Amino acid sequence: CGVFGVVGVKDAANFVALGLHALQHRGQEAGGIVSHDPEQGFNSARRFGYVRDNFTKQSLMETLPGPLAIGHVRYSTAGSKGNTAIRDVQPFFGEFSMGGAAIAHNGNLTNANSLRRELIERGSIFQSSSDSECIIHLMARSLQQNVPERIKDALRRVEGAFSVVAMTRTKLIGVRDPLGVRPLVIGRIGEDGWVLSSETCALDIIGAEFIRDVDPGEMVVIEHGLLKSHRPFEPAKPRFCIFEQVYFSRPDSILMGRSVYETRRQIGIELARESAVDADIVCPVPDSGTPAAIGFSHESGIPYGMGIIRNQYMGRTFIEPTEQIRNMGVRLKLNVNRALIKGKRVILVDDSVVRGTTSRKIKDMILDAGAAEVHFRIASPPTAWPCFYGVDTPDRDKLLAARMSEDEMRDYLGVDSLKFISLDGLYRAAGEAEGRSKSCPQFCDACFSGEYPVEPRDMVEKGFQL
Ligand code: 5GP
Ligand code: SF4
Ligand code: MG
Repeated sequence: CGVFGVVGVKDAANFVALGLHALQHRGQEAGGIVSHDPEQGFNSARRFGYVRDNFTKQSLMETLPGPLAIGHVRYSTAGSKGNTAIRDVQPFFGEFSMGGAAIAHNGNLTNANSLRRELIERGSIFQSSSDSECIIHLMARSLQQNVPERIKDALRRVEGAFSVVAMTRTKLIGVRDPLGVRPLVIGRIGEDGWVLSSETCALDIIGAEFIRDVDPGEMVVIEHGLLKSHRPFEPAKPRFCIFEQVYFSRPDSILMGRSVYETRRQIGIELARESAVDADIVCPVPDSGTPAAIGFSHESGIPYGMGIIRNQYMGRTFIEPTEQIRNMGVRLKLNVNRALIKGKRVILVDDSVVRGTTSRKIKDMILDAGAAEVHFRIASPPTAWPCFYGVDTPDRDKLLAARMSEDEMRDYLGVDSLKFISLDGLYRAAGEAEGRSKSCPQFCDACFSGEYPVEPRDMVEKGFQL
């Protein structure tokens, strides 16, 4: 998901709509905005579909006045896949004794089921099936006298990954979980406006200046043009999601002070060093494989070409939640550039193999177009474990790498060779010159290593085997 908030500008909701549009890659199912105006109070709008199809209409935007607003773009992860109801669309809103507050959450809480059970037993009435709603109910039960303190109370009880943007009548608040699994950045706009965003690409779209990341475990409270920093949690060693670097974030964003594009290009360079192969052309599977393919071509000296052309009017296939749509998706979205491919030995670079359905179809398309050989090079290690922190990987038994060795995957996909980047190579590309630390890895990489930095409590309770 993507979160965004602005304070200190006229008609803040318009800026939020633009920010959410720039974060659309983080969630395409639905979006919502809450705004506050001193005269008109809180207002909200939640809609299915793309930001551009909803939050561009003047008639809707006029209902969201005021200098303070937050928003969310949703992509359903573990729990409520695909069948998002409008009541699951964030931001969530609550009325407390000290006034209203709204929150938007990116990430996934790993103890939401047990919290929900406990809260319901104690009288909370849940409106949605979302894990994030627990935060509002925990805030309601807190005895603290102001909203930031109530948020602290609530977030000390939840486990898992959370980057939260929240607002009261006067405050814009941002928090990252102690491990900082999901991104969240701070920007400035105009004279005394402030912005919070999942990624820097959404600061650019509104002409805001990137100031810094919200630190893992930090809470920032912005009021009357001033930002105050709090540290509500026990300090912990950060474990940012390495898959944000590989795939999830936009390449024009800056994560942890580094260009995502450059990290991905370096992944391609590492991949070419680790698993060179003689071939005529390096092609990305667009768009997710493009920067890595550029790096691979650069390092190997094999020319880069656009062997697959993407229809720009389709969304990300993986994010379409049902199997049927996903299966059609590949053909609707990607087509082979026959004139370029015919007779060539092709290296195809993609970011990941999950179920293997995409890769298999692409290989068929490339061979149909007359390629002499197809070599897959993958910009992440084999995805053998599900993510419980906010990326929608399927159940373990649907993951190709959980069932097969690399050689078996190569045969299943029917390609001449298949190589994945090593975990160390990936860490080097992400700026860790020494590779992955064995004692305490610098990132979360659980979907590749099976080492979960936060116990996935709800899933273990349901029988998931670590
Ligand atoms: P599959 O192997 O399941 O057919 O699909 C892999 C493709 O899905 C890759 O090209 C990758 O770009 C895309 N993808 C989109 N979202 C995700 C995600 O959340 N996790 C992974 N591992 N791949 C994803
Ligand atoms: Fe990211 Fe994978 Fe960790 Fe999930 S399990 S947070 S996708 S690195
Ligand atoms: Mg892809």
